[in-house]
Amino acid sequence: MNNLDKYLSILDGEADGLLLTSRYSRHYGAQHDIAEGVAVVSKAGCRYFTDSRYIEAAQNGIRDFAVLEMSRANPFHKLINEAIADFGITVLGYEEDYLTAAELRGYEEKLNAKLVPMNGKIHSFRSVKEDWELDRMRKAQAITDKAFSEVLGRIKAGMTEKQLQAELIYCLYKNGGEGLAFDPIVVSGPNTSLPHGVATDRVIREGDFITMDFGVILEGYCSDMTRTVAVGYATEEMEKVYNTVLQAQLAGIAASRAGATGAEIDGAARQVITDAGYGKYFGHGYGHSIGMECHEAPNCNPSGQIPMQVNMVSSAEPGIYLPGKFGVRIEDLVIFTQDGCENITTSPKNLIIV
Ligand code: ZN
Ligand code: ZN
Repeated sequence: MNNLDKYLSILDGEADGLLLTSRYSRHYGAQHDIAEGVAVVSKAGCRYFTDSRYIEAAQNGIRDFAVLEMSRANPFHKLINEAIADFGITVLGYEEDYLTAAELRGYEEKLNAKLVPMNGKIHSFRSVKEDWELDRMRKAQAITDKAFSEVLGRIKAGMTEKQLQAELIYCLYKNGGEGLAFDPIVVSGPNTSLPHGVATDRVIREGDFITMDFGVILEGYCSDMTRTVAVGYATEEMEKVYNTVLQAQLAGIAASRAGATGAEIDGAARQVITDAGYGKYFGHGYGHSIGMECHEAPNCNPSGQIPMQVNMVSSAEPGIYLPGKFGVRIEDLVIFTQDGCENITTSPKNLIIV
């Protein structure tokens, strides 16, 4: 089934049309990425609307939709209403997580069809990846691996977190990244106990841990990885915490296979950290699904009751964060298979001292 057919398959019940407003769903359905636009999907026909900045790219790249230009004379609501009339649409499913309240109010006032929220169904298809999507994610993750090995040679005591962040971003683009999956996290010393800390002017010193969490976008798909390295030397306690996180991650990866629930996978990793006495210092979940968006469902956390399926992609990222002292996180991406998982991250995980 191609992606558009997946969307058409949910048009038998509560809605006879879909209004795709998020870049992700438009990209997924049309299999072509256009930054801005709106698409209407129905069994009677599909139309894609965008403005003069993107119209040529859309007309060249989009196959299964009629591509029409929106303008001041032909605003979105007018074009959508024409599609509603031409295709006989009475109920349009929309992505409630990707519309502002003002946009929704505008559509409700102007469109000649009933609007029903269908975000969950529309986005559910993206959790199990097609082979071509997995190829893009492998390539994206390879770029982060290359950037990591390159940035290691640029870390020096005396530079600030912000300067290292700039070097990391340079390495991500230089190695082929087309965008950043998110603002890279670069924290050092006591700041590493902040799981999602922001790079500051703090000067990196000998004896620091540095945690770098980063990813790129390649052909619309995200990568995501984290490594924690030590500068100059690591104390015994730093080594102990590092190795505990690593063992926890390996236990989570070993428990990752199709059929396992997110809670089971999270639990396998969490047990290692709890047994080592650091249970209360691992606050976040073990992993999140990822694809066009960096954070997708389902999650591998203590409340994850959904069994993982073949070709789902999840992060594996346990951590221990000791307030005021330091923290460690190690993150890979894995693709679920029938009897296990494929780790698409290849950077070393032994404690690296730069
Ligand atoms: Zn990450
Ligand atoms: Zn992540």
